[in-house]
Amino acid sequence: TEFVTVSELASMMNVSATEVIGSCMSLGIFASINQRLDAETIQLVASDFGFETEFISAEVQEAIVEEEDKPEDLLERAPIVTVMGHVDHGKTSLLDYIRNASVTAGEAGGITQHIGAYSVTGESGRKITFLDTPGHEAFTAMRARGAQVTDIAIIIVAADDDVMPQTKEAISHAQAAGVPMVFAINKIDKPGANPDKIKEQLSQMNILVEEWGGKFQSQEISAKNGVNIEELLEKVLLEAEILELKANPNKTATGTVVEASLDKGRGYVTTVLVSAGTLKIGDFIIAGQHYGKVKAMNNDKGEAVTEAGPSIPVSILGFNGAPSAGDSFNVLLDEREAKQIAVKREQLKREQGLRTKKHLTLDEIGRRL
Ligand code: GDP
Ligand code: MG
Repeated sequence: TEFVTVSELASMMNVSATEVIGSCMSLGIFASINQRLDAETIQLVASDFGFETEFISAEVQEAIVEEEDKPEDLLERAPIVTVMGHVDHGKTSLLDYIRNASVTAGEAGGITQHIGAYSVTGESGRKITFLDTPGHEAFTAMRARGAQVTDIAIIIVAADDDVMPQTKEAISHAQAAGVPMVFAINKIDKPGANPDKIKEQLSQMNILVEEWGGKFQSQEISAKNGVNIEELLEKVLLEAEILELKANPNKTATGTVVEASLDKGRGYVTTVLVSAGTLKIGDFIIAGQHYGKVKAMNNDKGEAVTEAGPSIPVSILGFNGAPSAGDSFNVLLDEREAKQIAVKREQLKREQGLRTKKHLTLDEIGRRL
């Protein structure tokens, strides 16, 4: 079996990929940066850097078997979008405007619940799901857990300001994750707004917007006044079209935890985003060391639902604890199995905590298999 790639192993050990390639070479293995290494090689290379290796997940993950999809089972799914940008450039305003506009448009009766994600329908009738924890903290926290939830990033820049350090950070996060970007040039209602200056500053970072002959879509908006928001959403959908996002809704669900909290009256409330399959009431679910039976589900409008398909965020009741944002979840056959795996994970985590610091645990490996 092959596990992590050269570059993944390098980042686990906090060394450069070149050093790992060098180490492989000394073992007579000519590896490229994206090449997967087998267990023996990983062990040898790791020990070269003073790490002990332990493969902890294989056994635990055995029970979680991914079902194969036939091409005809794959249906279009909504893109999952994150809004990132410098502080005060309008992330919250944009997310709020989009959410409220969709409610007043009568998409569903009622007040939106903040559950960490919501979905809206664009003018063309297609859906978009937004992660509404703005900023790249959530994005990086999830990435650090091996979760790639975001399909498209909206990078928002205030036109009365400049491309700022956090704008650049957001751009490099999106680039590192290989997530396509759409630029929202905000606050165009302001007297001092100068969208061209922003485009110019982006071009200095090698980011050329379409009007300037580049490949990046950008849209001038006012998040506060709701100007050109539909146009922005249509550009996001255009980007999504290129990605051809698909998932099989007809199998047991897998996905990612978006947020979790303890509600005094209701117990643990966990928002999950289904990436494939359909999550149903009564399913036995596990995420991190926590498990449970899905007792109730609510959508982003606070309505009770009985199932959730790909790209649909729901808050669920039934977990016996609060999993972390970015944890992947799986549905298992029965409670006994879910509990067994949870206990095993708990035990492994405890053991890990007791060990010395220079120890490489390849915990994420199993998840990728
Ligand atoms: P965040 O820090 O990126 O979440 O930014 P906020 O959404 O909190 O916005 C920061 C400030 O800019 C708030 O006072 C908003 O009202 C204001 N703001 C956001 N968008 C616009 C806009 O399009 N036009 C104007 N004039 N003000 C805006
Ligand atoms: Mg904010």
